[in-house]
Amino acid sequence: MLSANIFYSIYSLPLGILSLLIGFASVFLVFESKDFKGLFLFLAGCLFFFLSAYFSTSEHSLYKLGLSYNFVVFVEMIVALTASVFWLNAASELYNNQPTNRVSSVLYISICLPACIYYSFLAYNHVIAVSFSNLLISISLGVFLAFCFARVYKNPALGNVLLFLAVAILFFKLVISSYFFRYNWLNLNLLNWIWVYVFAIAMVFERISMLKSELQKSWNVIDKLNLQFSHVVNSSPFPIIISKMNGSQLLLINGKAEELFGITSKEMNYCKLSDFMIDEDNRGKFFTILEKKHEVEDFDLMVSNLISATPFWLSVSAKTIEYNNEMALYMAFQNITLRKERENRLQNQADKDPLTQAWNRRYFEKEVPEKVKVLIKESKYYSLLMVDADKFKNINDTYGHKTGDKVLIEIVDVCAHSLRGDDLVCRFGGEEFMIYLDNTDTSSALKVAERLRNSIAEAVIFSDEGEEVKVTVSIGVVSSEKTDSLDVLLRQADDAMYLAKHNGRNRVEVYDESKVRAVMKEKNKHSSDDVHPVFQNEETGEISLLDDYDNRIVKEVK
Ligand code: GH3
Ligand code: MG
Ligand code: MG
Repeated sequence: MLSANIFYSIYSLPLGILSLLIGFASVFLVFESKDFKGLFLFLAGCLFFFLSAYFSTSEHSLYKLGLSYNFVVFVEMIVALTASVFWLNAASELYNNQPTNRVSSVLYISICLPACIYYSFLAYNHVIAVSFSNLLISISLGVFLAFCFARVYKNPALGNVLLFLAVAILFFKLVISSYFFRYNWLNLNLLNWIWVYVFAIAMVFERISMLKSELQKSWNVIDKLNLQFSHVVNSSPFPIIISKMNGSQLLLINGKAEELFGITSKEMNYCKLSDFMIDEDNRGKFFTILEKKHEVEDFDLMVSNLISATPFWLSVSAKTIEYNNEMALYMAFQNITLRKERENRLQNQADKDPLTQAWNRRYFEKEVPEKVKVLIKESKYYSLLMVDADKFKNINDTYGHKTGDKVLIEIVDVCAHSLRGDDLVCRFGGEEFMIYLDNTDTSSALKVAERLRNSIAEAVIFSDEGEEVKVTVSIGVVSSEKTDSLDVLLRQADDAMYLAKHNGRNRVEVYDESKVRAVMKEKNKHSSDDVHPVFQNEETGEISLLDDYDNRIVKEVK
């Protein structure tokens, strides 16, 4: 601490600065916001301390006022005494102004004041006077720190004992110095300050160990909470996973999830979410929703078990949570494979023809316009094949309806097996099928149609009686090169198919408007009653594809 005589001796300067720093550090360690009064007293003590330091210079203003030397010395000592009284009171304030501390302060002043008078007016020794001031300041700062120390230990009694000890030391030193002042040993700063340092260092260590134990307690609480959390997660009836936010690593997995995904908690650290979320699109959608809303509810997720590798469906609800001091993804799963299967079955029932398992017309009308839109945007072509079994009535009549059904199933099987994933085979009527060929122009469509016609003609179906049944088909081909209107192309496909029938059956015909007109004209000449079989289907009562469009052509031809 800066004391009065640090300005006399260069060796005391570091000592004084160190003391001052320790004093302030101690204040920050122990003072709380409610200790406003104590802090004020401590700062007032500091102010008087600096005044005392100023007075200890040989050229200060009191000398210039022409006051007597003894009086100036007396003022210097009173200033130091005031600093020490403020500090003692600040110390006392630390324990809510206890009466014992007040008594101690009064005792302290009543000892020190006569001493000040004695050294300045009777003993005439300036060196002793300054040393005494120094002693007052160091002792009071020591007491202040002792109280800080006692407070850290939460022991007010200890503070009181230390205060009385300080007064006793002071008294003892005064008594000794009155006999031995000429040896000037009171001026040994280091001896005065030592106990200040001892308390300050002990206090800092105590504070550090307290902080350490508080930190340890907090860690214990966190560990306990984590344990409870893991317990709750583990005993959940639902599979639960906690992973890093981006899914790059699993952080916690409960027993149900281990079973579901086929991993153990030991392997967990090497797994990421994409190991289970096998469908990229599905996974992408999940993370997009999560990014936007920070939570996902009942999302249908396609996953796979790491051992069996069979894909299945889960419903996942996910939320971002704080886990082990970082943001993490909490996911609870529910197995919905059965529900999904039922939904798929129902969907299939709604979209598929129950006999042949080909798509139905409803599905065609829902799905194909969407596909066509995409193709038109990409400036690609699509084609339609209208397939009609030849003389199918005869098959029914000869082998029975049941065999006829088998033939229809076979036709669809042959088509389905020789087409690509993006193509669609749809049953439009009794023995009529519309095939949509994705991204296909006329020449390719023609090749596909020929291939199908051949394959169907080569297929052998057995009747219930074991007879070989053969079937051929007539196919009408259209492509979207000239028009991309689906409605127009559907009708043209039907016309093209009629051309194939007209030209001898078991044929493929590409739509040609002039040929169609010629055929219609010829047909009308023969008989107005002899209508195109697609117009009129007495047995099935199927609605003709040609509808008004073809009637219009017929009328025009007329
Ligand atoms: P064309 O070569 O001119 O097409 O002659 P077709 O006999 O095939 O044509 P038509 O329209 O005269 O007869 C179609 C027959 O298809 C009539 C109907 O009994 C039969 N049919 C329609 N739906 C089914 C079905 O689901 N199962 C069976 N077995 N026959 C069906
Ligand atoms: Mg037919
Ligand atoms: Mg027909």
